Amino acid sequence: MIDNAEVRTRIAPSPTGLFHFGSARTALFNWLFAKKHDGRFILRIEDTDRERSTEEYELDAEGALSWLGLGWDEGPETPDLYGPYRQSERLPIYERFAKKMVEDGFAYYCYCTQEELDKERKELEEKKLPPKYSGRCRNLSKEDADKCKAEGRKPAIRFKVPENKTIKWKDLIHGPMEFDSNLIGDFVIVKPNGDPIFLISNIVDDAEMKISHVVRGDDHLANTPKQLMLADAMNLPVPEYGHLPMILNPDRTKMSKRKNPTSITHDFRDEGYLPEAVINFMAFLGWTPARSASSTADAGGPKINKEFFTLDELVGEFDFSQVGKSPAVFDVEKLNFYNGYYIRQMELGELAKRCLPYMEKASLVKKEDEKLLDVIGLVQERMKKLSEAPALTEFFFKKPEYDAELLIAKKSTKEITLKALEESYKVLTEEVDFTRDSIEQLLRAMAENIGVSAGEVLWPIRVALSGKAASPGTFELISFFGKNETLERIKTAIDMLNSK
Ligand code: GLU
Ligand code: ZN
Repeated sequence: MIDNAEVRTRIAPSPTGLFHFGSARTALFNWLFAKKHDGRFILRIEDTDRERSTEEYELDAEGALSWLGLGWDEGPETPDLYGPYRQSERLPIYERFAKKMVEDGFAYYCYCTQEELDKERKELEEKKLPPKYSGRCRNLSKEDADKCKAEGRKPAIRFKVPENKTIKWKDLIHGPMEFDSNLIGDFVIVKPNGDPIFLISNIVDDAEMKISHVVRGDDHLANTPKQLMLADAMNLPVPEYGHLPMILNPDRTKMSKRKNPTSITHDFRDEGYLPEAVINFMAFLGWTPARSASSTADAGGPKINKEFFTLDELVGEFDFSQVGKSPAVFDVEKLNFYNGYYIRQMELGELAKRCLPYMEKASLVKKEDEKLLDVIGLVQERMKKLSEAPALTEFFFKKPEYDAELLIAKKSTKEITLKALEESYKVLTEEVDFTRDSIEQLLRAMAENIGVSAGEVLWPIRVALSGKAASPGTFELISFFGKNETLERIKTAIDMLNSK
């Protein structure tokens, strides 16, 4: 049983790049778990890699989490409880722990140079042995150490991996796990320049920040046994660990920028995905609700095939016991499906407001007005991303450009199309009532009169007005454009067909 009072989870991004979709999913699962158990969710910035970490990327991570609605209870800018929460502000803590391990005989100074280590590794490779540090500096005499120091060598600190130990933990997702310590070579915990390696700063902080559950990607599986040994040597409490399945491209390669959107702020937010949709989509990458029909967890219970979840609903449903072990595939079509759903659910005024920046950027509109509301209302049904708004609505603002061939409906002919357009032009010229329903009656009656199917009339008019194979319906477009603009565009279409 999980003691609610003690649940503390965290997301610990390294600000060395844009905050990635995979990290966001990890954040979501940790956030949900904390909320579910009335716990706390902590943001810790792992910026010990001084060359690669930037403030811009730290802000990007914070911006991404905020946009998704995954707020944190403790983090860099909150009052310190167990902080500071930025590792670059905690370096003396790691140094203290590392030195203590050396004093206690759990770690040692290693004076090997990179060249020496490379050479050693190569020799092992040639013998087809796995790369593993020889442990050469484990028992360096005082004289040898002094000699190295005199040569100006700066030592790294290495952890002395205990021999013949089986490292075990019960993973929240993988179940019981075991590693043989003999397969792990003594590893560096502090670099010669004094910077701690992730392995030590991460576990020290999890202990100091009283993290109860560490849930992270499968790419960290190999780090966990090392960190458990470190915790043992430092006498630190150990959190529960869980490792989430990787997210793959549809071709089952590791999810990458080349094949999928990856940056939350650049590829999702700025492209016009809605946070609700991203959250919903993300939740299903690895997780299956217990009561869904596809789950065997509760086969006897009511079958709920629920597909749309708000964050609050997810808090109620989510549990690590329903997170699978196998990799999840990122399907952008699915994401677009969710996004389209949330766009359709949105109140029109709100949607128009969110589309406005894209429309402004495309120089289609300058402010939120009636017309913007109307055109967005007409394309709301088909919009998958906010960034599509300009392309979907451009023809409302400018005369469309298209190929005359498009005017001819499937299975129709140029002659019939011309006739249909000319007759439409005629009846519309005489018409005064341009409301949707009366236009519909008018055109359907006309089609019947001239013995042409409704489709052969409505298709070319729609193309004449929109320039597109897919657009809002003919009657909606005519009543939106009104008499003059409709007639003008039909006239242009007739001329184009005639000169074809
Ligand atoms: N800074 C690590 C990363 O971004 C954190 C790993 C962890 O969650 O323990 O991968
Ligand atoms: Zn060495």
